[in-house]
Amino acid sequence: MMKNGFMRFDRLDNADIAPLERINNYKGLHTPLDEDKRREQAARCMNCGVPFCQAGVMLNGMYAGCPLGNLCPEWNELISKGMWNEAADRLLLTSSFPEFTGRVCPALCEKACTNGLDGNAVTVRDNELAVIERAFETGYIKACVPKERTGKQVAVIGSGPSGLACAQMLNRYGHEVTVYEREDLPGGLLMYGIPNMKLEKAIVLRRIRLMEEEGITFRCGSEVGEGISADEIMSGYDAVVLACGSSVPRDIKAEGREADGIYFAVDFLKSATKAVLRSGLAYGDHISAKYKNVVIIGGGDTGNDCVATAIRQGCRSVTQLEMMPKPPAQRTADNPWPEWPKVLKTDYGQEESIAVFGSDPRVYQKTVKRFITDENNRLKAVETVALSFDNGKPEQIKDSEETIPAELVLIAAGFVGAEEKLTSAFGAERTKRGTVMTEAGHYHVSGSLFTAGDMHRGQSLVVWAVKEGRDCAKEVNEYLSGCME
Ligand SMILES: Cc1cc2nc3c(=O)[nH]c(=O)nc-3n(C[C@H](O)[C@H](O)[C@H](O)COP(=O)(O)OP(=O)(O)OC[C@H]3O[C@@H](n4cnc5c(N)ncnc54)[C@H](O)[C@@H]3O)c2cc1C
Ligand code: SF4
Repeated sequence: MMKNGFMRFDRLDNADIAPLERINNYKGLHTPLDEDKRREQAARCMNCGVPFCQAGVMLNGMYAGCPLGNLCPEWNELISKGMWNEAADRLLLTSSFPEFTGRVCPALCEKACTNGLDGNAVTVRDNELAVIERAFETGYIKACVPKERTGKQVAVIGSGPSGLACAQMLNRYGHEVTVYEREDLPGGLLMYGIPNMKLEKAIVLRRIRLMEEEGITFRCGSEVGEGISADEIMSGYDAVVLACGSSVPRDIKAEGREADGIYFAVDFLKSATKAVLRSGLAYGDHISAKYKNVVIIGGGDTGNDCVATAIRQGCRSVTQLEMMPKPPAQRTADNPWPEWPKVLKTDYGQEESIAVFGSDPRVYQKTVKRFITDENNRLKAVETVALSFDNGKPEQIKDSEETIPAELVLIAAGFVGAEEKLTSAFGAERTKRGTVMTEAGHYHVSGSLFTAGDMHRGQSLVVWAVKEGRDCAKEVNEYLSGCME
């Protein structure tokens, strides 16, 4: 066994494919390490007495560590010993889809890793991905079909990570699960939000096929509340789980908003993925950034996905407007380890913009004042204005207006909650944040109705959606077994 790896080996991430090479396609962004190197990386885990990476705690209003409670030190040790199947067993004990989180999770575990206190954290996420991909490759992952069925029927509405995790667990408890999805393919934002280069859609479909083999039924192209009514669903199943996401996008109120050429980021990303799946190339019948000056409103992760997609489609220029001030390069004194670090990160799309256009697309403390159109109401530019935060609130700075050419604007300003028509069809009470109301820390709405994921928690992360789906399934199972308090 490799001892004290943290003193012997430096952190080594999966290698990035060079930005100028990877923008030529929509394939994955990294290449994995070989087995020896991976085992060295796993051996960097210190097996701390109380590992924050696994424990998961709220610190200063933010979560530190893995929300799923993944047993990272245990499987790191098993990887370092070359015990791959045992590592997969420990990983799958707490995680439903490590092949998703191993690709898209912002790795809350790593930010809380003890090695990260004065050096570089263990590559927990890459290690997780290596375990699950090896388990798939070697045929160790097999359909887990329940030996007995309870005779209870459950409908899960929405097939994002929360709906999928919930369906997986409910099926394992022996209930018959049907997942309703309004899109043509299942996966929620895993399929039609996160771009293919970050999460290849074949990976999502591999899991769906496995879940079908395990006995779960998927009904795609079925919008509950449209073709099938809420009443039909409620009367046709012993329990119903709403897992429809937080899909209402926050809009921008500015003159000219009705111009042709302004879209919500998720509509753009969905259309781009559909085009990729149809033809392998994003040219053709979709919202296209080709030859256009693109302005993205929102400096966050969704905005970054739009940058990368627009570059692959052949945009002329790309600018990402961020209202907030530029974060510091290093942790500040009031944001110590193991809190989530509020520091500047340059994500893959921004790296690609730097490689293609020679500059980071982000401009800080700027917002849109007005959209400028031609005589046919087609967008041709945006007028921006600078913001100051002297009293904590954004204030427009006088005479700071600038005009940027733009034939395509993508609004990536977050989401304001679940769709009202669906929650009211099910008679579900809403919180002020537009999410479905339950007792704190629970998933039960009323009667046989439950909820999980972004629809319950608000816009969040895949790892949280999986956690909510799994925990919700436990509550549904207690309800179906007559054990719910
Ligand atoms: C562009 C983008 C990129 C992101 N990237 C990351 C990332 O890299 N890492 C990360 O951790 N998180 C990321 N997130 C956040 C993450 O994707 C979400 O937190 C997560 O997908 C929420 O899962 P969910 O199951 O609750 O809902 P969703 O994934 O939103 O799934 C809800 C599903 O319900 C379906 N649905 C809605 N209404 C109905 C109805 N009436 N009938 C039937 N079906 C219905 C929808 O079609 C959808 O498929 C990203 C989000 C966005 C928008
Ligand atoms: S799911 Fe995310 S936070 Fe949890 S171990 Fe994996 S990468 Fe870390």
